[in-house]
Amino acid sequence: MTASALDILAQHNLRKTAVRAQVLDIFLDSREALSHNDIEAHFNQVDRITLYRTLKTFEEKGVIHKAIDGGEKLKYALCSGHCSEHAHEDHHAHFHCDQCGKTVCIESMHIPAVQAPAGYQLSGAYLVLKGTCATCT
Ligand SMILES: [Zn+2]
Ligand SMILES: [Zn+2]
Ligand SMILES: [Zn+2]
Repeated sequence: MTASALDILAQHNLRKTAVRAQVLDIFLDSREALSHNDIEAHFNQVDRITLYRTLKTFEEKGVIHKAIDGGEKLKYALCSGHCSEHAHEDHHAHFHCDQCGKTVCIESMHIPAVQAPAGYQLSGAYLVLKGTCATCT
């Protein structure tokens, strides 16, 4: 069973607001990573700053994570439920479809442990798969 928007807000000690609940519903309904514009398109009218802050808060609290796909647009995807504030555990690959531009989490594929060369300090490592998604093949 999937958690509802209200469950997720409660789980992360986030106060319920109309925008937060709606943004979560959009993520729950969508099976792909979403950019700021994708989310904004679901609203009739929304303050861009409020939306920006909502996404930022969600990322900080472990509700959504950046779905790095090598593209120019920053996209976010819903976390699996094991994430908490400042402790994301979304160390999985993201698949980017060259045809439709969709980005999805591949949670079963973990990013292998990597080591930075001597003298370099690693702050992140991403695994991006590119190709054609199931809908476009
Ligand atoms: Zn996360
Ligand atoms: Zn596709
Ligand atoms: Zn992901």
